[in-house]
Amino acid sequence: MNDQFQGKTAVVTGAGSGIGAAIAAELAAGGAHVIVSDLDEAAATRVAEAIRAKGGAADVFVADVADAEANERLVGFAEQQTGALHLAVNNAGIGGPSARVGEYPLEGWKKVIDVNLNGVFYGMRAQIPALERAGGGAIVNMASILGTVGFANASAYVAAKHAVLGLTRTAAMEYAAKGIRINSVGPAFINTPLLEKNLSSEVLGQLASLHPIGRLGTSEEVSALTCFLLSDRASFINGSYHLVDGAYTAQ
Ligand code: NAP
Repeated sequence: MNDQFQGKTAVVTGAGSGIGAAIAAELAAGGAHVIVSDLDEAAATRVAEAIRAKGGAADVFVADVADAEANERLVGFAEQQTGALHLAVNNAGIGGPSARVGEYPLEGWKKVIDVNLNGVFYGMRAQIPALERAGGGAIVNMASILGTVGFANASAYVAAKHAVLGLTRTAAMEYAAKGIRINSVGPAFINTPLLEKNLSSEVLGQLASLHPIGRLGTSEEVSALTCFLLSDRASFINGSYHLVDGAYTAQ
């Protein structure tokens, strides 16, 4: 335990698994009271129980980020439980169908945009007024390397993640003078259930070889950057996009 987030309340979406679970654990280890939010109540409960077992503070709130009102309820819950919201990580995301643009399923497109882009907008729309009420705070939006480069057969995901960068920059400009910092993070391929659920071990190996570092990243490596951006040590870092990608985009 350290105390860099002592006295802060943090909301993390998609915190039942992978990157979100690692961020929730690291924030709690730094003293934050974490609202572990996910669609999957059992997964979120496991993450919150693991945090409490280590002496941290966590509550569970089930919310679909693609539902604007659920985002409002999530923020209301955080304020009701702890008095104020200071930090938020809009992390929930899905992969979506794999197909070229000419054949991309319409429902799949709408679903990916709804979760990966609209979910970030609904999240910030609810969180920012709460951060203003708290006197300031910080937000990280989970983008991807696919927020800056393309990837065949993933047009909806790539489009949503590119849009998250623009949304992040604009919101940061709008609220910088209010003491609210908003940044985005761009992980390369990270070994989480998102990949494991959708890809064979052979394909995972091929993905690993795309990174000059020669392996996939870990959730903890993404969490380290995210928590730094949320901390007061990042006090002049605002409105920007930060890669954690094993040199993937350096090529
Ligand atoms: P993950 O292991 O699948 O975890 C995501 C969590 O979000 C899951 O618990 C999932 O629940 C939940 N979720 C899905 N849709 C949701 C919704 N509408 N509302 C609330 N929660 C929802 O994924 P991850 O790899 O940690 O990814 C986290 C974020 O990092 C995503 O934004 C992803 O795009 C981004 N990212 C991941 C990678 C990677 O290679 N893994 C790379 C770059 C960026 P279910 O399990 O029930 O769906």
